[in-house]
Amino acid sequence: MNCSNTDTMMHEYFDNELSKEEESFLFTHLAQCEDCKNNFKALNRVQYEFRKGESELPERLEQRIFNTIRTKERHAVTNSSKKRLPTYLIYGYGVIITMLFLFMVYQFYDLKNETLNYKENFEVTMVQIDLQQKQISALINEMPAVKVKTSVDNPDLLTIGILESL
Ligand SMILES: [Zn+2]
Repeated sequence: MNCSNTDTMMHEYFDNELSKEEESFLFTHLAQCEDCKNNFKALNRVQYEFRKGESELPERLEQRIFNTIRTKERHAVTNSSKKRLPTYLIYGYGVIITMLFLFMVYQFYDLKNETLNYKENFEVTMVQIDLQQKQISALINEMPAVKVKTSVDNPDLLTIGILESL
């Protein structure tokens, strides 16, 4: 791609007429060609002044060009040597995960048993309380009824007391 093509593409870029692929092409050229990059930056500044906010800020532009190159480099690396985890690491992780899982299962059953024990104890206590209450009410019923007697000799006093309370 030569510089005159890039010039056209730049204008198309600002008119949002570039495809993602073409955009990538343009940015790759901008990363390699200082003249075009400066042109682009100047154009971008003009565009930015015209429609503030719509175009990219100059600082962000540098970052974006840099990111495009980095993404391309990363792709090149992953394509050339597909890195895989060593087999022993995979087995290692497998063992650790299995142990963690077993530990969690064990903890769960332990907790469940404790809850069951607690529930049993609670039920026994409730039965005991119920039994005690029955014994208490049986005792109360067996008690002889208390007879209340007046120890007032003069019945007039009692009448006065009743009248006063009315
Ligand atoms: Zn150029």
